[in-house]
Amino acid sequence: MAQPVVDLRSDTVTRPTAAMRAAMAAAPVGDDVFGDDPSINLLQERMAQLLGFEAALFVASGTQANLCAVLAHCQRGDEYIVGQQQHCYRWEGGGAAVFGSVQPQPLEHLPDGTLALAAIEAAIKPDDPHFARTRLLALENTLGGKRMPMEWLAQATALAAARGLGRHLDGARLFNAAVAQAEAAGADPRAEARRIAGHFDSVSVCFSKGLGAPVGSVLLGSQELVGRARRIRKMAGGGLRQAGVLAAAALHALDHHVDRLAQDHALARRLADGLAGLDGVRVEPPQTNIVFVDLEGDARARAADLPQALAAAGVLATGLYRLRFVTHLDVDADGIDRAVQAIRGVLAAA
Ligand SMILES: *Cc1c(COP(=O)(O)O)cnc(C)c1O
Repeated sequence: MAQPVVDLRSDTVTRPTAAMRAAMAAAPVGDDVFGDDPSINLLQERMAQLLGFEAALFVASGTQANLCAVLAHCQRGDEYIVGQQQHCYRWEGGGAAVFGSVQPQPLEHLPDGTLALAAIEAAIKPDDPHFARTRLLALENTLGGKRMPMEWLAQATALAAARGLGRHLDGARLFNAAVAQAEAAGADPRAEARRIAGHFDSVSVCFSKGLGAPVGSVLLGSQELVGRARRIRKMAGGGLRQAGVLAAAALHALDHHVDRLAQDHALARRLADGLAGLDGVRVEPPQTNIVFVDLEGDARARAADLPQALAAAGVLATGLYRLRFVTHLDVDADGIDRAVQAIRGVLAAA
């Protein structure tokens, strides 16, 4: 019998579980553009309460959540400070510039993924007609699977607030950060998520990543900010109708798929451990559910066709000489062990 494919390309590839599908099928729905969808309203209220905000807005994707956030914080001719590798700068088609005439001011990351406080400070422009108006600091947690240190989050957001900037967190994987942090501190993941979110004026969270829902993100903020975001969502064609079936999946994920992220993190460590000690292979110790594997020197030549060879062995990943493996709800220890075997096999075969 053929082995199932081990898909480690992203935590977006999960399929809704039978229980999640049942919750979706049973969801009460209404027209959300009229504010009538009880499941969406419940999700928005629950998320706002959970993370300590006045209001929340259910949107189609993380990209849409970030777009609504940046445009709710900034006007035409404003700018936002952001890291080079952050999703809301690098991976969203330049949406804030295209749709909002908002210019990014990207900064290089330090090795731990943070941005130097001095670099943030230096990037804030004086009020002078030569410059775009610096209005927003946008951060991300987790970033490439890295958990941002709480102390740095506090310092960077305090600096932004002192200079009159808004503070947005792309928390697509906020719960991965929270679960890892909770494990280290012996705390509750929800309390940790709230602690992280507490440093920001707005936060976006994805349900379609590690939480395992098919679609959907939430943007959180004040009533006023979320009101502006709602208008932008409508302009972006993102007004939803009977999308309570999707909110029900997200509610189910909140109930059943938060704490289990710890299993994804353990599997990421299992993968990293399995690849340890291979010649020319540098494995970044994973902090959450993403493992980066760099092939160096000789190993590059030996593994030029690694992604194809892996695919032939039924293991899917992204990247070429810097491979990225993401663990999630639909992968188990067996799958990880097969991935380890396949990678070791390809590297040893040359
Ligand atoms: C995936 C992701 C998003 C948004 O992705 P969508 O595919 O638009 O849902 C935003 N930020 C981060 C950090 C992400 O990983």
